[in-house]
Amino acid sequence: MGEGVRRAVTWIAAGVVAVPIVLALRMNRPRPTLWSGLGELPPCDGFDFPVGAPDGDGYYDAQPFGRNYHLGNDWNGNGGGDSDLGDPVYAVANGVVGHTRDHHGGWGRVLRIVHACGVESLYAHLDTLEVPVGVTVRRGQRIGTIGTAHGVYRAHLHFELRTQPLPLGGGYAADTTGFLDPTAYIRAHRPLR
Ligand SMILES: [Zn+2]
Repeated sequence: MGEGVRRAVTWIAAGVVAVPIVLALRMNRPRPTLWSGLGELPPCDGFDFPVGAPDGDGYYDAQPFGRNYHLGNDWNGNGGGDSDLGDPVYAVANGVVGHTRDHHGGWGRVLRIVHACGVESLYAHLDTLEVPVGVTVRRGQRIGTIGTAHGVYRAHLHFELRTQPLPLGGGYAADTTGFLDPTAYIRAHRPLR
């Protein structure tokens, strides 16, 4: 074998060993979750309501947490029907947007915000998504508008608070592990004014 050929064979042999090792290391790397890779999260300084900010004025919860195994709140305008279609939705606390996507089906457009206090807020069936992933938002900042999930429902905001980086899920479950009663949590964590 000439020197050049020998060198080439050595490099190919090294590649045959190295490539599987690199792939194996990559596969063992923890998969990124919604809560990782968002950079510095702004400090939590309390929670407001996601509609009728800051206090939820003009809205009622048509399906509280736990009723029919509901994992969130269904915020509706006091006017009923689609009277709240297009109304603003606000970030409940300071955080970073971790997810915005149109899932269609029963979810429609969904926006999720990760908060430094170990809580994630989730806003579903939105008519518009107004802030992109990775952006820092402040409590009370407008992030989207109330929608119908493309006509699946009368307009309302399905709203969840979570304590773990969970998949989207189904919105209803008997096991509430990783989910908070949003209204109870917000009431217990109102900002100092
Ligand atoms: Zn709901």
